[in-house]
Amino acid sequence: MYESEIEEGYDMLLAPEKTSVEHVLRRLKKIGVPEDGRWQTLILYLRYISDYSYLTNNQKEKIQALLIGVIKKKKFDAQEYDRIIKELGNIFFEPYKEKINESLKETTELIKKFAEISILRRKHIESLEQHTISIIEKTDDIEVSIEKIKRAFKKVISLIDSDVKKLYEEVQLDGLTSLYNRKFLDIYLHKILKKCHKNRIPCCILMFDIDDFKNINDKYGHRIGDQALIMVAKIIKSKGEKYLTKATKGNFFAARYGGEEFCIVLEDFDQSKGYEFAELIRSGVEKYNFIIRDSEGNVVESGIKITISGGVSTTYDGLKSCDKMIEEADKALYIAKKKGKNRVEVFSADG
Ligand code: GH3
Ligand code: MG
Ligand code: MG
Repeated sequence: MYESEIEEGYDMLLAPEKTSVEHVLRRLKKIGVPEDGRWQTLILYLRYISDYSYLTNNQKEKIQALLIGVIKKKKFDAQEYDRIIKELGNIFFEPYKEKINESLKETTELIKKFAEISILRRKHIESLEQHTISIIEKTDDIEVSIEKIKRAFKKVISLIDSDVKKLYEEVQLDGLTSLYNRKFLDIYLHKILKKCHKNRIPCCILMFDIDDFKNINDKYGHRIGDQALIMVAKIIKSKGEKYLTKATKGNFFAARYGGEEFCIVLEDFDQSKGYEFAELIRSGVEKYNFIIRDSEGNVVESGIKITISGGVSTTYDGLKSCDKMIEEADKALYIAKKKGKNRVEVFSADG
C-alpha cells in the first residue's frame, strides 16, 4: 500500500464529513477489511468518535491512534478484533476506573480514621465510667455529685461533636493537598451556579493540569511527585487568598479534581477576571523554585521547573450545568496543551 493511500485512509477516518459511507466501505475493502460486517461496523463506529461528547479529548486521541494502528497493521483476524475490543473497553472505562479507585481509597482512609477515633473515644467513655463511680463514692453531697458527673459527660460529648465535625471536613477534603475533593466540588459548584443564576452574577471555573507530570514522577519518583502536587496546591491557595482580599469581591474555592488536575470556582468573576487570576496562578507556579530534599532535609536538587496549563469557562447567568462548565474548561485546557503548554486558554464555542 502506498503512503498516499494510507494518508487518504486516515483522512477518511479522521474527517468523516469529507467522505460518504459507501466510499469508506470501498476503501476498507481495498485495504483488506473483511466484508463480514464486524470490522466494518467497528471502524464506521469509531470514525465518528470526535462527535461523542461523553468521551474526553484524551480518550478520543487514544481511540483515533488505535484506529490508525488497525489500518496500518492491516491485520483483520479474530484475535486482533478481540484485542481491539479489549483495548477500547480499557479506554472507555479508564476514567471510571480512576474515579472508583479514588473513591475506594478515600473510603478506606475514612473508615481507618473513624476506627481510630472510635478507639480513642471508647477509652474516654471507659474512664468516664470510672470517674462517675469515684465521684459517687467520694462525694457526699448529691447535688455536687450530679454537677460533677454532668460536667464530665459534657466534656466527652463535646469531644464526640468535634469528631463528627472533623469527619465531615475529612469527607470534603483531598487527603494529599488539603484542597477540597472532587465530590465536594460537584456539590459546591451546583450550589454556586444556582446562586449566580438567582443573583444574576457571573461565575468562572478554572481547570489546571500539571505539564508533563509523568516525567516528574519518572525522573524523581512518586514521593517527589506528591510533593510537587502539594506545592502547586499551596500556590493556588496563597494566590487565591492574596488576590481576593486585595482586588476583588467574590469567593474562591479550590479543589483537586483528580490526579494532577485542579479546579477553581470563582463566584462573581467574569471571563477577563477569571483569565487574569488563572494567569496569576500559572505564572506563580512557573516562577516557583521547587527544591527536592532528602529525608534529613538536605537539598538534593533545586531550581526544578514545574509548569501548569489552564482552561477557563464562564457563565453569566448561572444556567450552564456543572458538567458543561467543566467540559468547557477542559476543552480550553486541551487547547492550551496543544498550543505548547504553560499557558491559559479561555473557552470559546468556536473551538
Ligand atoms: P500533560 O502535559 O499532557 O498533562 O502530560 P502529563 O505527563 O502530565 O499527563 P499524563 O496524563 O500522561 O500523566 C499524568 C501522571 O500523573 C500519571 C500519573 O501517574 C500521575 N499522577 C496522578 N495522580 C498522582 C498522584 O497522586 N501522585 C503522583 N506522584 N503522581 C500522580
Ligand atoms: Mg492530567
Ligand atoms: Mg498533566
